[in-house]
Amino acid sequence: IERINKRIQAGRRWFSLEFFPPRTVNGAVNLIGRFDRFVEGKPLFCDITWHPAGDPANTEKPTSSTCMAGAMLNYCGIETILHISCANISTAQIKDCLENAKNLGIRNLLALRGDPSDGSETWTFFEGGLNYAADMVRFIRKEYGDYFNICVAGYPTGHPECTSYADDLRHLKEKVDAGADFIITQLFFKAETYLKFLRDCRDIGITCPIIPGILPIQAYQSLRHIVKLSRLEVPQEIIDAINPIKDNDEAIRNFGIDHTVSMINDLFASGLVNGIHFYTLNREVATIEILKRLGMWCEDHTRRLPWKTTANHSRAC
Ligand code: FAD
Repeated sequence: IERINKRIQAGRRWFSLEFFPPRTVNGAVNLIGRFDRFVEGKPLFCDITWHPAGDPANTEKPTSSTCMAGAMLNYCGIETILHISCANISTAQIKDCLENAKNLGIRNLLALRGDPSDGSETWTFFEGGLNYAADMVRFIRKEYGDYFNICVAGYPTGHPECTSYADDLRHLKEKVDAGADFIITQLFFKAETYLKFLRDCRDIGITCPIIPGILPIQAYQSLRHIVKLSRLEVPQEIIDAINPIKDNDEAIRNFGIDHTVSMINDLFASGLVNGIHFYTLNREVATIEILKRLGMWCEDHTRRLPWKTTANHSRAC
C-alpha cells in the first residue's frame, strides 16, 4: 500500500477523521460501531488522540489510545494515525508505546508535546522524558528510522504559549526539519486564517503537506469547552449567530453544518487544499451531513465490517 504521506498529496479530494479513546468498554464498543458507519464514506485515514497517564483513558486501560488505534486498523481496516505526546512519560515508556504500536501494525504517528495533564497552563518537564514535539520526532526517527510516517501539529493563529506567531512558525519548521512528513492544523473558524498560515509556512520554507483541521460546531457547551482548552478566539460573527440559539442543539448543529460547508468550499476554491481533517468529537451526524453536502461521502458497501455482510456488494462509488 502506498504510504499515507504520498496519498494525501494525490490530486483527488479526500477527508480524514479524528476520534478520542472512550473512557469505558461500552463506549469503545459504540465507537467501533461508529467506525463501521464512517468507513462507508471512505476516509483516507482516521486518527486516535493520546491522553497522558493519569487520565481515565490511560495506557493500561482496555480503551487506551493504542488499543483503539489497533482496533481501528486491524478490525475495521482503516489506515490509522496514533497520536503520542511527551506529557508525563519517560523515554523508556515512549519506547514501549512505540513498540506496542509497531506490533499492532501501526505505521503513522502524530508526534506531540501534549498539554500538562494536571490542567495547569504551564508545561513542566517530566524527568527522563522529552520537552518538545520536535524532540519526540527526533526520538522516533533515531529509534525507528523511516518505519513510521510522522505528522505534527500546526497552529494557524500561533500556539497559545508561544512568545510570538513568528517564533511558533520557526518551531514548527524545527519539527519538520527533525523529520516530520506532514502537518495537521489546530481548528480555526475562517478559511482565510488557514490560507494566511499556509502562505506564512511556505514563506519560511515549510514545504510538506499542511492539512486543515476542521471542527464542525455541534453544540454550544462543547464549543465553549474546546475553545477554552485550546485558548482560541471565536470570531464575533459566530458568537452573534449562536448566542440566540444556544439552547437549541439542532439549530446549533445546523448552523455548524452550514458554516463548515461554506468554509470548506472557500478552502477548495483557493485551489491549495484537497484534503480536510475533521475533529469529530466521536459524533457522526454533522460530519457525515457535511461530507454529503460537499459530495465527498462515498457509500462503499464493499468495505463493510465482517458482521455486516448482507449488504449489496455490487454498489461502487
Ligand atoms: P510543540 O510543537 O512542542 O510546541 C509547544 C510550545 O513550545 C509552542 O508554543 C512552541 O512554539 C514552543 N516551542 C517549541 N519548540 C521550542 C523551543 N525549541 N524553544 C522554545 N519554545 C519552543 N494534545 C493531547 O494531549 N493529545 C492529543 O492527542 C492531541 N492531539 C492534537 C492534534 C492536533 C492536530 C493539534 C493541533 C493539537 C493536539 N493536541 C493534543 C494539543 C497539543 O498537545 C497542545 O497544543 C500542546 O500544548 C502543544 O503540543 P505541540 O506538539 O504542538 O508542541
